[in-house]
Amino acid sequence: MDTTNSDTAVSYRAFSVAMLLRHGTPRDRWGALLVWLALGVICIFSGMLTTSQGWYGMPMTFGGVHFYLTLYAPQIICTLLVLGVGWVWGAIPAYASTLSLALYAGMPWQWAAVFACADPLGFAVMALGYRAIPTRRNLSSWFSWLFYIQLSFAASVCSSTGALIWGYTNHIDHSSILAIWYGWWFGIFLQSVFIGGPLVALLWPRMLAWQQRYSKPILNAQKDVRRRIVYMLSAVTVGVLLYGFQTMQLSVHESELASPDDLAALQHALSLIQQTLWAFFWVFAIIIVFISMMGYQLYRYYKETNDRLLQESRTLARTDVLTGLLNRRAMDEQLQTAFDRHHGTSRPASLLLLDIDHFKRINDQHGHPAGDAVICHIAALIRQIVRERDTATRYGGEEFLILLPETAIGDSVILAERLRSLVAQTPAAYEAQSIGCQVSIGIAELQAGDTSYSDWLRRADRALYQAKQTGRDRIVIGH
Ligand code: GH3
Ligand code: MG
Ligand code: MG
Repeated sequence: MDTTNSDTAVSYRAFSVAMLLRHGTPRDRWGALLVWLALGVICIFSGMLTTSQGWYGMPMTFGGVHFYLTLYAPQIICTLLVLGVGWVWGAIPAYASTLSLALYAGMPWQWAAVFACADPLGFAVMALGYRAIPTRRNLSSWFSWLFYIQLSFAASVCSSTGALIWGYTNHIDHSSILAIWYGWWFGIFLQSVFIGGPLVALLWPRMLAWQQRYSKPILNAQKDVRRRIVYMLSAVTVGVLLYGFQTMQLSVHESELASPDDLAALQHALSLIQQTLWAFFWVFAIIIVFISMMGYQLYRYYKETNDRLLQESRTLARTDVLTGLLNRRAMDEQLQTAFDRHHGTSRPASLLLLDIDHFKRINDQHGHPAGDAVICHIAALIRQIVRERDTATRYGGEEFLILLPETAIGDSVILAERLRSLVAQTPAAYEAQSIGCQVSIGIAELQAGDTSYSDWLRRADRALYQAKQTGRDRIVIGH
């Protein structure tokens, strides 16, 4: 299930028009502009066809509700633009096509200007949904499909507010407004799912390849995500409340009109209320699924993000930045574990404490960065020598502590000696210089008399001190 991850391809608005304008090839720049304008023109003309061909009023019955289904091509084109490029790029042609359609149909321009906001409003809900919850828009998994369907529903309900303006300005009676309203959102919803969706799925790989050329890195993608979620939830809530209120009002109004003596009118009102109930059932069924899916998706997303961050910070807290070996904090835990496991048993365990000889000189002669390179070099040699079950750490500035479980003093000496001679024979390379160095190693085996791992460590430290005192570049066993 490819639901969430933070890669930029998933983030809505990763594609940047500014990047396209700044870095795009002339072909991409002008091509994009021309394609967009051409799509806008197609939107405007197909929008007018909707009116002239009567595609907004195809009678249908579904789930006990009679309504006039609306087919509106600009909605499909603009869905592609909203998903692929961004809200503004879909909202402008959506506004233009609805505006021209309304003016063409003779709607007063003031009303037309408001009426044309309906589709951009629906698209805003869709865009907000994708921005609030990073979900793939490629529609190649059932989850991304479900999310798209839910958002399409919320968007179509919001955009169908236009049906009310249409109804009022055309002086359509209440029961017909109800049917137009149902047909509007249901038509938009169906075409969004059955035409828009498959088109998105089909075109997405090409769209993504093009997008990624002009994606901006989303560093703070999560910055204002909480605000976006609040906006989206508010938009969905307001949309659904408006929807519920309007539907109720229209059908109640119809029943109020019916006089008690007119049986036919009463029956009509009753059937209208029945239809309203059915519509409510479908709408709320979808809304409930939508909200629970959103909740689940949000939970999943934040849980995954948190788990990953926690894991990363745990690893960071245990890792030495310079060498990538474990650090002292991690080693102290390991020492305690090893002490608990081995102390008082017949199973041996040993420690090697290693310190670079005359390291101050290396720093003084070659500089601090060269000293760092030597520390990394030694760490790499240690990694070469230790076995799978051993734990190597950078315990201090230029001191390394190696824990050898299940290893008695004899094998520890062999390993320490191999390490010492390997270091002595392998100079570190830093820039053009080759820096030779040596190490002293103190060795200590865990003893029955040790009361804590500190006793054990202290013996290794004393052995190291002796190694330094007796000439360096050597190993000493602590007793
Ligand atoms: P000895 O043979 O007795 O160990 O002599 P030494 O000069 O190596 O003395 P010591 O072990 O006390 O050296 C510690 C020096 O290591 C001091 C400090 O300047 C240097 N040092 C500690 N941490 C780092 C580090 O991360 N990078 C570098 N470049 N130098 C470090
Ligand atoms: Mg030293
Ligand atoms: Mg030291």
